[in-house]
Amino acid sequence: SYSPEQIWEMDKNHFIHPYTDFATFKDEGSQVVTGAKGTSITDSSGKSYLDGIAGLWCVNIGHGREEMANAIADQVMQMEYFNPFGHSTNTPGSILAAKLAELAPGDLNHVFYTCGGSTAIDSTIRLIHFYNNVRGKPDKKKIISRNDAYHGSTYVAANLTGIHATKYSFDRIANDWINHVSAANLYRRPLGAENLSEAEYTQFLVNEFENRIIQLGADSVAAFIAEPIMGAGGVLVAPEGYHKAMKAICEKYDILYIADEVVTGFGRLGHFFASKAIYDMQPDIIISAKGITSGYIPLGAAIISEKIYQVISKPQCEGGLFSMGFTYTGHPVACSAALKNIEIMERENICEHVQQVGAYFQEQICSLADLPIVGDCRGSHLMMGVEFVADKTNKTPFPMEAEISKRLFEHCAKLGLIVRPIGNIIVMSPPLTISREESDFATKTFRTSIEKTMDDLKR
Ligand code: PLP
Repeated sequence: SYSPEQIWEMDKNHFIHPYTDFATFKDEGSQVVTGAKGTSITDSSGKSYLDGIAGLWCVNIGHGREEMANAIADQVMQMEYFNPFGHSTNTPGSILAAKLAELAPGDLNHVFYTCGGSTAIDSTIRLIHFYNNVRGKPDKKKIISRNDAYHGSTYVAANLTGIHATKYSFDRIANDWINHVSAANLYRRPLGAENLSEAEYTQFLVNEFENRIIQLGADSVAAFIAEPIMGAGGVLVAPEGYHKAMKAICEKYDILYIADEVVTGFGRLGHFFASKAIYDMQPDIIISAKGITSGYIPLGAAIISEKIYQVISKPQCEGGLFSMGFTYTGHPVACSAALKNIEIMERENICEHVQQVGAYFQEQICSLADLPIVGDCRGSHLMMGVEFVADKTNKTPFPMEAEISKRLFEHCAKLGLIVRPIGNIIVMSPPLTISREESDFATKTFRTSIEKTMDDLKR
């Protein structure tokens, strides 16, 4: 076995971490997470923390479930892998596809499996291009996404992402057919929309979207992609009626609506999928990942409508073979884990639990709004974000040097709570099994950390 120091040494010399500043990372070392059970994680010093971010918005049923380990081990012993290309298949992949078709709203009945969220996004775009080729509309290719959206790290998903990457990270090569419209941001609205009611703001955003379609040419626009609530972009909840109104525009111009439910799916907002259940909007495609296996093993899925499937499965399909697939498409071990995850969620009524405890958590987090550096508390159920500002009246952001979210993160960690810093925003998305008492602990600890941060800033 290795000491934490040896692990750090190997880590800093060889492990390339995602979204990490390599320069500072080398000096600071890493926190080695060695254990996880229920809603808690433990590090190599033996300290325990309430996992306020469910790993990374994904460990929905909580950590360390023996049943999950057994389901994974049983499938490995039974049949760990064989490809599902062409006419071969596997049992968990087939059962899971049927189960997802049952859980997904409306006619979303067919599943393309991938290795995670990003690959599900990229695959979906290829699938949509294939769909339009088969329909004899090969020029209908453009995708409209939103500023501040996060859709993943593979090349197309990263291009769809609207959070500004530094210019050194990658070139936006696909700009020709990937376009961005405004985020739906009730706290920081664009010029001209500051004083509108929610309904008027929705109309403002819908007008921008429709104008963009007209400007690009409706015959060239294939799809619109949106998260029901934006996650990594800062937990942005859209104004009343937004998703439904955007879908109506999509229908008007024969444009597909892709709901990226990588974070919002699998119970985080109290339903298996949020689009229809919460926003009364029937998407053409739902993207799922993360909570689909509660993060125990990687899996992604694009769940597509009967309407799309009918086109791409025409016997005399002009586009010919759909030449796409991963070695691990429908991996039987991942699908077994997903099935067990769903079984646990249903048996323990986890969605109902989120509807109650999540509503309480939301209320508690929103009660932090009285603090002078809290600009906005937002989100829904177990997907919450708090934006910090130097001046509440003018919504002036803290300068980078204030290192506001780093300070908050560190105070929370010292007090036994893990939160996620994103710019001037702190995100909380705990496991869905969180209790009322843990919710109280999280809010109290967060409040104390904010007060300590305010003291730091006075120094
Ligand atoms: N879409 C959304 C909304 C996400 O939050 C993420 C990841 O955080 C992704 C897609 C990408 O998923 P993955 O990291 O599994 O590739």
